[in-house]
Amino acid sequence: MIRINENYLKLKASYLFADISRRVTAFQQANPDKKIIRLGIGDVTEPLPEAVVAAFHKGVDEMADAGTFRGYGPEQGYDFLRDLIAKEDFQSRGADISGDEIFVSDGAKCDTGNIQELFAGDIRIAIPDPVYPVYVDTNVMAGRTGQNVDGRYEGLVYLDGTRENGFIPELPGEPVDLIYLCYPNNPTGATITRPQLKAWVDYARENKALILFDAAYEAFVRDPELPRSIYEIEGAREVAIEFRSLSKTAGFTGTRLAFTVVPKTCMAYDSQGGAHSLHAMWNRRHTTKFNGVSYPVQRAAAAVYSPEGKAQSRALVDHYLNNAAIIRKEMTALGYDCVGGENSPYVWIDGKMGSWDFFDMLLSKAAVVCTPGAGFGSCGEGYIRISAFNSLANVQEAMERLRAVLK
Ligand code: PLP
Repeated sequence: MIRINENYLKLKASYLFADISRRVTAFQQANPDKKIIRLGIGDVTEPLPEAVVAAFHKGVDEMADAGTFRGYGPEQGYDFLRDLIAKEDFQSRGADISGDEIFVSDGAKCDTGNIQELFAGDIRIAIPDPVYPVYVDTNVMAGRTGQNVDGRYEGLVYLDGTRENGFIPELPGEPVDLIYLCYPNNPTGATITRPQLKAWVDYARENKALILFDAAYEAFVRDPELPRSIYEIEGAREVAIEFRSLSKTAGFTGTRLAFTVVPKTCMAYDSQGGAHSLHAMWNRRHTTKFNGVSYPVQRAAAAVYSPEGKAQSRALVDHYLNNAAIIRKEMTALGYDCVGGENSPYVWIDGKMGSWDFFDMLLSKAAVVCTPGAGFGSCGEGYIRISAFNSLANVQEAMERLRAVLK
């Protein structure tokens, strides 16, 4: 008899975005003439930068010619891209990262989900709340938690994000081995300062712990005082793995390209205390289970780092940042406390009522879709997330409708 991995039975039955979609569909069916504006799911709306499209086409043409055709490439990514990323994203900012420490992949979602396969089943894991759900669910699937009791899984150490701590959790009160951090944060839009991040790096060094740093939204950081990479913090090379993605940086959500940085100095330990290179382990995992990102997509990604590509990607992010600023300004003027929306595409709003109640009110009265904070963890109850990923016209219209309903 084929048996299932029963850890899957612990997962909460319904997925947040499926719940939202069900309510939105029901509303649209009951109100077929209403134009719904979706400021919920974090997908980009604007097309790829021109320089990226040109390089993408050229890559496809090369595949059509026997002289330049390519079959399997290196699983870790082509050197032309890995070296460019190391230079432009890290070395240029004083972070000591080399091209062979970059692992190119087809998504930060898969990488953040897959990485935990390198670690023992009984490690202690610290998870922020509210949180990008992938970190939690992948550990549940792997059997690292007990049951979900009142919205929290037994066996995880939750790091509470609250209005008081500005959604930057304090260091854990009990020992942990693996720490998930995401800045600029999804869902709260909060950003972390260098001293705050340094405290986490120091904690990890003192406790032989490891930080998984998700920097999927680093391109939204405009404040020069804020870190864009954890490797800008002294000592991080020994205790941190960083995840990056071109999804939000350059509109690659449908094109797919991300990368994971695993410094060669990053170690984890066996049961006897022996140190093992996580770079070697991730390399083994990646080459065994992944066969590389397609050549034209890697060429398209390299174009993000060309002078034109940089300017066009920056303009793309500026567009969303402008939307975020509008949302934040409007909601603040309406008397709501906001986090994020600066150096981030997400605005996290204290709705002053239940998350789903606020969601239902905005949908039914304004035909605007947001994301209920409660879907990201129990600390999200009472909050909603509004995303800046949309056209300027849609954001302006959504804000007009919200003003009419909430003032
Ligand atoms: N990490 C965070 C925090 C995200 O919000 C997202 C996407 O929304 C991802 C990772 C996924 O990125 P990718 O499109 O590269 O899989």
